[in-house]
Amino acid sequence: MAGQTYNPYDNVLKVMDDAAALLGYSSSDIEALKYPERELKVAIPVVMDDGTTRVFEGYRIQHSTSRGPAKGGVRFHPAVNLDEVKALAAWMTFKCAVVNIPYGGGKGGVVCNPTELSERELRAITRRFTAAIAPLIGPDQDIPAPDVGSNAAVMGWMMDTYSMLKGHCVHGVVTGKPIELGGALGRNEATGRGVMFTTKNIMKKLGMEFKGTDVAVQGMGNVGSITAKLLDEEGMKVVAVSDVSGGIYKKEGLNIPAILKFLGADRKNLLKDYEEEGMTRISNSELLELDVTVLIPAALENQINASNVDRIRAKVIVEAANGPTAAEADPILKEKNIVVVPDILANAGGVVVSYFEWVQNIQSVSWTEAEVNEKLKNIMDPSFEAVWNIAQEKNTTLRMGAYLIAVERVVKAKKARAIWP
Ligand code: GLU
Repeated sequence: MAGQTYNPYDNVLKVMDDAAALLGYSSSDIEALKYPERELKVAIPVVMDDGTTRVFEGYRIQHSTSRGPAKGGVRFHPAVNLDEVKALAAWMTFKCAVVNIPYGGGKGGVVCNPTELSERELRAITRRFTAAIAPLIGPDQDIPAPDVGSNAAVMGWMMDTYSMLKGHCVHGVVTGKPIELGGALGRNEATGRGVMFTTKNIMKKLGMEFKGTDVAVQGMGNVGSITAKLLDEEGMKVVAVSDVSGGIYKKEGLNIPAILKFLGADRKNLLKDYEEEGMTRISNSELLELDVTVLIPAALENQINASNVDRIRAKVIVEAANGPTAAEADPILKEKNIVVVPDILANAGGVVVSYFEWVQNIQSVSWTEAEVNEKLKNIMDPSFEAVWNIAQEKNTTLRMGAYLIAVERVVKAKKARAIWP
């Protein structure tokens, strides 16, 4: 990853400042948004399977609660750090605002490598982390969810730990839970499904064919794999995919069902061991630079930056990851006429269905998967339309369009509440 000085939180501030300037806001209007409301750093001691004790570092950050309780995932990854979690929390604030669900933004993270941990070790980290951040979370305060490296099982342990501490069952404290614990049908696929809706929407707006069009997907985690699956099912030609072990490319289109079957539901297998007739092996950076119509970064932040933006050849980029494009690359992509659908819009499907899960939990009702998917579309499509329209009207990028809507909603809520005391 290029750019040693890359600081994701500075990226957020830059985009927010640009949006505020276009909206005609004074620095006082947005000053408070530059500082996360709460930053908690915790130490997580765990007895490992070999009997030694290790201490992991964890964070929970609430960027804003102006529009509602903080909402956002928990990332388990070796590269987690304070600035990353701050940025991820702020992106959640703007994501929830752009799709107009009643939440602020938060995020958590633990510096660890889940692929090197046993299930017992991962559960111990999860439980101790949950206990450490328990004073901050709750259905009305801050609601964690899965992110990179965490999943439904982790959410089940978080829900159980919190419930044990409270002495009663609290379903609504986390979303993305196992279905048996009040998880929403459709939540596991929701981010990928939202990316699929968004890809259809942008192709239609640009007058481009969706069916048969070539697309490359970087990342085979929950978001990347389900995005590739749904785009393939809907008729796009997925020509390249990648994971931590590297990528594969096939001009005629890869066999996505076979790849997903090979990787397995828990994705314990890696693409480096996958074989398909006619495919070639590529690196993750080669995937980003492929001559494809649509590129979907669905891995980590800072993938498209000053070091490679000149070599990006896709016509459309749909950001399934959070922050895959560094702020410095945006004006260059614009100059190159590459259309970027920003993360806070394109990947909002996950948190939208998290919202549906929370709504079902607090009312003790459950919706069918078809209802969930339909309600998701009914939020994703108009949100896309609104972002498209404002970007056209202001002659700006879709990212700026999304931030104009989001920043305005957050600032209006802040003003309506006024600064306490
Ligand atoms: N981690 C996901 C995101 O970045 C989902 C967050 C949530 O559902 O609260 O949007």
